[in-house]
Amino acid sequence: MNAPRLEIDLNKIEYNARILIERLDLLGVSVTGVTKAVLGSVEITRALLRAGIKNLGDSRIENIKKIRRSHLNIPTTLIRSPMKSQVDQVVAFADISFNTEIDVINSLSLAAVKSGGIHGIVLMVELGDLREGIMPKDLKPIVKQCLEMPGITVRGIGANLACRNGVSPDHINMSKLSELAESIESSLGIHLDIVSGGNSANLNWVFGSQGPGKINNLRLGESWLLGCETLNRKQIEGLYTDAFTLVVEVIESKTKPSIPWGTLAENAFGQHKISEDCGDVEQAILAIGRQDVDPQGLYPQIDIQILDASSDHLIIQSNLPIPMGTEIKFQINYSALLRAMTSPFVEKVFYAS
Ligand SMILES: *Cc1c(COP(=O)(O)O)cnc(C)c1O
Repeated sequence: MNAPRLEIDLNKIEYNARILIERLDLLGVSVTGVTKAVLGSVEITRALLRAGIKNLGDSRIENIKKIRRSHLNIPTTLIRSPMKSQVDQVVAFADISFNTEIDVINSLSLAAVKSGGIHGIVLMVELGDLREGIMPKDLKPIVKQCLEMPGITVRGIGANLACRNGVSPDHINMSKLSELAESIESSLGIHLDIVSGGNSANLNWVFGSQGPGKINNLRLGESWLLGCETLNRKQIEGLYTDAFTLVVEVIESKTKPSIPWGTLAENAFGQHKISEDCGDVEQAILAIGRQDVDPQGLYPQIDIQILDASSDHLIIQSNLPIPMGTEIKFQINYSALLRAMTSPFVEKVFYAS
């Protein structure tokens, strides 16, 4: 088989998604399956459908197009604010988009009218993480304006935390979102179908004791992909953390000094390296690099130590020399997964355990 490759266990993914759906269903919270980290993979989307996922979210219109074109029968949501230049595609391929800018929503409205359809929007609210979102005080006037636009239907409101600044979803900010939903509904006399509280970082809050309030949806990616919550990266009870395995091949293995010699300047990535002298070591090179993976997100399954990485080389230290062609396996974190899925040099191999 080719290396490097990402081995993807579809049964573990399906199982993880099913457990999360079941646990959240008990609280009246639906799950949007977020596929951006896997580039809208059709195989993985099918596993999510088998698990009972009823709608998909992705941040890239290209991924949503891919899912649409493979005739998978499931509603899709664009979870990043649309580019004004892409509104025609957004209206054509996504059922709903997340929005914060009236100018863009106006363009969506024109595009929807032109296409003869209705496009759903969810208005994102800023709750403190300082990524996307309308400031809470501005929400009501914006909803009002949207209600008057043809071709657009306001499906709900949402928020996203724990991304830019790591602000944790808690009783205070989630109650704020519930209150906003309530006040919009009562003051404007409308019903919001979707109150989308957040991402995998919301799981500790939602399974806590105080109940989800009016929040009836979460958008989950990392938790079913890697089996962990994302505030402390702890395993979620009962979920698989090893659905993805990265397999990489050894292309050099030599006994070398542990410190470089010659005049030292910046390395390829603008860093000045300081190494500790521990005599000669067994150094090996694996055929993968920063172009394909985040070296800091690799967890080797055997006793080796990662020393460095360049664009195309991952340099490790081992106890014994490693024969050429040996394959070394790693578990990976979200950052490494994102890059490995995106790299055309990493083959994706799907299987079912
Ligand atoms: C990526 C993303 C998600 C999913 O986040 P996970 O941590 O993978 O669960 C949810 N909502 C938005 C807006 C996102 O960009």
